[in-house]
Amino acid sequence: IALWRHRRHFAAPDLREYLIFSSIAICKIVCAEFLTATSLGLYSSTVNRQYNQKQRAMSETKMDRTKPQSEYIQPIVWRNVFLIGIFHIIAFYALCCSFFERKPLLLAWGITVGVLSGIGVTAGAHRLWTHRAYKAKWPLRLILLAFYSIAGQNSIFDWVRDHRLHHQFSDTDCDPHNATRGFFFSHVGWLMYRKHPSVIEKGRMIDMSDILADPLVTFHSRYFNFIKILLCFVFPVGIPIWLWNEDFYSSMLYIGILRYIIGLNCTWSVNSVAHIWGYKPYNKSISPAENNFVALAAMGEGFHNYHHCFPWDYKAAELGFYSLNITTLFIDFFARIGWAYDLKTASDEMVKLRVIASGDGTHPSSTKEHLQ
Ligand SMILES: [Zn+2]
Ligand SMILES: [Zn+2]
Repeated sequence: IALWRHRRHFAAPDLREYLIFSSIAICKIVCAEFLTATSLGLYSSTVNRQYNQKQRAMSETKMDRTKPQSEYIQPIVWRNVFLIGIFHIIAFYALCCSFFERKPLLLAWGITVGVLSGIGVTAGAHRLWTHRAYKAKWPLRLILLAFYSIAGQNSIFDWVRDHRLHHQFSDTDCDPHNATRGFFFSHVGWLMYRKHPSVIEKGRMIDMSDILADPLVTFHSRYFNFIKILLCFVFPVGIPIWLWNEDFYSSMLYIGILRYIIGLNCTWSVNSVAHIWGYKPYNKSISPAENNFVALAAMGEGFHNYHHCFPWDYKAAELGFYSLNITTLFIDFFARIGWAYDLKTASDEMVKLRVIASGDGTHPSSTKEHLQ
């Protein structure tokens, strides 16, 4: 694709070479990260088993910090490695090309589709179906299901079960994207392995009766693959071609692939970045942290220290400022017209008690008291 594209649009040979070799370099970095993650995480593939034994002896100090409770060879799912890898290489190439394109309509459409899909994940799969932080009437649930499908992620059932596990067993072997295994694993690596037995075992114990009782979700699950392909690829790629005669290649490259991959990485950053970097004003003993970058990228899901303390709060943040929390704006709007109701939120008193009991002193109220 890269060669064909260059032949059509770029004359300068140095630019062509730069883009192609940059893509290869990124691919190599991802592969190196992957091998490092498998060798240091103790959940190595059989391929890397011998390599790991040498590495274990060499990195004993580092291992002590990240030592899991039980050792298990977690096989790599090469199909996922290949698909995720190839999609990222094409997306990186598209990102480079996008700097030279003048396609404002396509850019606006890409942002629109990205925001809608993000809301489907945050307001739908996360705050509504996983945490039951509010209730929604069927038209809103239908909208959220459609938006969620645009994101092209797992089925609602899998998403909810994995996220409930994540909250119940954070940073242990039972956490599907256990952040103690490093950035790469918690970001994307966890999708490249078969699940750890502890995840499967505890996953069976998660109560999913509410999800199974929702007729809209069961309908969505039944036709999941068809709906996903239609709403994640066919519809977003087809609209620019139909409305303003965009060429298929550009629409597929920027909307079908680049927009999709950026959206996935925004969601994944909550599990990785927001579990590694940031302040902990509510509970300093857990890894989730407050991270404004993630809040912006994931539409309000970056206030992760608060969210792990009060997962049932529909705002997923103490302060409901909309600029970094578009999801809260969306839910508030539908609450006004009556489609969202029974919104749950933590009281000021509850938050204050938590800040005093276990915060790291970075909460604005702690700073004020300190200054006084
Ligand atoms: Zn988390
Ligand atoms: Zn959550």
